[in-house]
Amino acid sequence: MSWGGSDKFMQPTISTIPLATLASGDRLSLQVYTFKGHKPGRKVYLQSNLHGAEIAGNAVIHELIQFFSTLPSEQLQGEVCMVPACNPMGTNERSQHFSSGRYNVYDGKDWNRIFWDYEQAIAIDAPTNGSLDEFAQVHITQDEAVIQQRYRQRILDAFAALQTKIQSPQSVPFREKYRYSLQSLCLDADYVIDLHSSNNQGITYIYYFKNRDDSAKFFLMPVGILLDTYDGDAFDEAFIKPWLALESSFAALGRSLRFDIEAWTLELGSGMQVNADSVAKGIRGVKNYLVQKGVLSLQDYPIESLPYHDIRFTVSSRLNRYYAPTGGYIQFRVPLGSSVEAGQPIYELLCLNKDGQVPHTVKVVAATSGLVYDVSTNQAVNEGEYVMGLL
Ligand SMILES: [Zn+2]
Repeated sequence: MSWGGSDKFMQPTISTIPLATLASGDRLSLQVYTFKGHKPGRKVYLQSNLHGAEIAGNAVIHELIQFFSTLPSEQLQGEVCMVPACNPMGTNERSQHFSSGRYNVYDGKDWNRIFWDYEQAIAIDAPTNGSLDEFAQVHITQDEAVIQQRYRQRILDAFAALQTKIQSPQSVPFREKYRYSLQSLCLDADYVIDLHSSNNQGITYIYYFKNRDDSAKFFLMPVGILLDTYDGDAFDEAFIKPWLALESSFAALGRSLRFDIEAWTLELGSGMQVNADSVAKGIRGVKNYLVQKGVLSLQDYPIESLPYHDIRFTVSSRLNRYYAPTGGYIQFRVPLGSSVEAGQPIYELLCLNKDGQVPHTVKVVAATSGLVYDVSTNQAVNEGEYVMGLL
């Protein structure tokens, strides 16, 4: 390895997994970097660049690889598995110089809405193995560790069954093959961290799931958004939803369980950019999280979590997106990261016409107060195009 390290320090195991052979004979692959600590423990899975324009996480993973390579294995318990550029098909897509890479060109599907979710698959599994509620009933007095191990095995068995179709002569569309490759790396993990950014211009924040507020604080992000509504089959959702569903089944029987299984999406600034501040926040957050979880031990960590009042927590159903009421050119938009009051002008559209009139402008005001967390990169918009978001 070119960046070296002596025997004293950890070295990653690097494995290259073929994904697809292209018509030209070139091959797309995933490359996985795994660091193993001196003792078994939790498995952590990190990936970046699932959406093609969202590249900042690759720098986070690169710096973490370098950082782990300066540590003796005694400082790591368990394993950390990292996959930069986890979607080569999306990453390499271009429209002139611009990365689009959010949608699969074959079927128009969002690359982050395609993943296999056991909570949905359980309908197929239930006739043989019983429903979630039945599973909870059978295990109502069982040890949490045993429940976790048995339930995970159910998930892994159902997932493994997908392979039969993939390997059949009929085979499956690329997206099904792709998700199988990616999810087979993480379904046995305890903590999954998916590194995204805006595909426009965005601030740095974290998405988290219910009952995980305390761990969300470990990432030291100034803004946290609780996913209270799901738009379906995202990577983080597909991983954690089956566990949240099982927690609910136990709760309905009066047993409160909170598995130490977590999924996170970090949003690291703007698309097509590697913003140094967002990368630094990402690295600090991941390190602190791993230290707080007992996976890593580091001298200057843990960093005390930001007090609750310094974190702006909100729920995803309360995000307000603004779309252009007519075609035009965005001007005087309030800057990314600023706070606005309801009724305050937030942007103006310069509107041309073909009616023999001089151009005019349209002012748009904020419907609610909030923080500008995301703005469109393109200041030319057709009617109905995205302009900005408030939280
Ligand atoms: Zn994304």
